[in-house]
Amino acid sequence: MTARILDGKAIAMQIRSEIAAEVISLGQKSGVTPCLAAVLVGDDPASQVYVRNKEIACEKAGILSQLFRLPKSTTTTELLELLRRLNLDSKIHGILVQLPLPSQINERLVLDAVLPCKDVDAFSPENVGLISQGRPRYLPCTPHGVMQLLGRCDIEVAGKEVVVVGRSDIVGKPLVSMLLQRFGPLGSSNSNATVTCCHSQSHDLAALTRRAEILMVAIGKPNFITADMVRPGAVVIDVGINRWNNTIVGDVDFESVSKVASAITPVPGGIGPLTIAMLLKNTLTAAAGS
Ligand code: NAP
Repeated sequence: MTARILDGKAIAMQIRSEIAAEVISLGQKSGVTPCLAAVLVGDDPASQVYVRNKEIACEKAGILSQLFRLPKSTTTTELLELLRRLNLDSKIHGILVQLPLPSQINERLVLDAVLPCKDVDAFSPENVGLISQGRPRYLPCTPHGVMQLLGRCDIEVAGKEVVVVGRSDIVGKPLVSMLLQRFGPLGSSNSNATVTCCHSQSHDLAALTRRAEILMVAIGKPNFITADMVRPGAVVIDVGINRWNNTIVGDVDFESVSKVASAITPVPGGIGPLTIAMLLKNTLTAAAGS
């Protein structure tokens, strides 16, 4: 079997052009132009690239962006003061704090300080709670990108056995929460899955992953999932982005797994581009509700 390649890059471009049209329509109706504030602390090279890509994506969609760069030595108090000002600024609709933060900063305190209605990453306790209750204000960008990809590729998750590997607050846990809902994200019917979540303490991981009709992997381990861990015909979603031997690879060994799966996301060009598209979507939603 040769797997169908699920082209996240093409779907992200489609979503971004839909958002650009909605931004124009919002401007015509209400005179509001969405604006995202990105906060970058320190000089981590990967974070600088991510923030730059987000700025470019905003610009192409007609969304304003403001970058706030702070030195690596910034304290929690200084960062909280900046967030207090951004929360009060009515021209800023979304606030993004680029992670990871330097180790002296209390990440939890910082993420909790973003006003829930401006929390376009959906990391605040209020927004996480709303997702869990099936009435999201915003959906977290990467899991939402996964659900959009499945929906737009006509891959039904309802009733299917879905196995998620990884339980981070950013990817694994919100994916599980969204897959379990009676109704899919933003009113679509693409949810209602039977979900298993695995992590580093799970016994016999391969036995669990082999049960999956849809396997989703977000662990940060290059090429970790091999063909023998995948049920023949499964759909495989690889969220991982790992620098390995001077290239970017996922958590799934694409070479071997694409021979047993029925469909698979590539890395790069799979979930990564969708994550940025969904950030734009949340910023637009925030501006429309302002
Ligand atoms: P994370 O916070 O480090 O969490 C990793 C998770 O994987 C943890 O739950 C961990 O289990 C689990 N894990 C680690 N080793 C394992 C193993 N051998 N077997 C089973 N589970 C294992 O990572 P993350 O932030 O979710 O990111 C995961 C990957 O996705 C990374 O490569 C990251 O770069 C990528 N990512 C991509 C995007 C995108 O836009 N495509 C966005 C975010 C992240 P424990 O909880 O037991 O430690």
